[in-house]
Parts: sequence; C-alpha cells; structure tokens
Amino acid sequence: MPTTCPNCKKESAKPEKTWKYGQFQVNAFTCKNCTTQFREYTKNGKYAFTLKLIKGKGYAKP
Ligand SMILES: [Zn+2]
Repeated sequence: MPTTCPNCKKESAKPEKTWKYGQFQVNAFTCKNCTTQFREYTKNGKYAFTLKLIKGKGYAKP
C-alpha cells in the first residue's frame, strides 16, 4: 500500500526516518508536495494509523 500525505493525498515514496516504537514501526515522511510532516505507524507489516504534525499541537490524528 503506498503511503499518501494526510493533507494533499499525494504519494510519498520513501520515509526520511524509521524507528521502532513499542510494537509499532514508525515511518516519518515530509510531503514533497505540501511539506506536511507526518508519521505512518505500522504493526506486523500492516498499516495501523497516521499522525500529522500540526503547528502548536505536535503530532495528532489528521
Ligand atoms: Zn502533502
């Protein structure tokens, strides 16, 4: 499943950073189209949820 920006829905190919967070794998992206920063969480290789960086609030569900 391609990763899409939660703001503009454009596909992002490669994460800038990845790390483990508990039982999740986190993939951090910056959209090349609209510069939205977001983090995609996967669990056991399956998509779990996405968090989007919101100014003044930090990462939250889009
Ligand atoms: Zn975007």
